[in-house]
Amino acid sequence: MGPDAPDRRSARPDDEGGDPACWLARVCPECGRLADEDPPTRCPACGAELTAD
Ligand SMILES: [Zn+2]
Repeated sequence: MGPDAPDRRSARPDDEGGDPACWLARVCPECGRLADEDPPTRCPACGAELTAD
């Protein structure tokens, strides 16, 4: 067994950019704008309520 274990490569995370659910919850259902903060909050553009659900 050498230092080049093959599972070190497969276990390395690719550039996925994190969890998409983080910002998907911020997308306004009315106008599609991304809110400035996590829900529950209001859309800065149209005032629609964003729920944490
Ligand atoms: Zn909106």
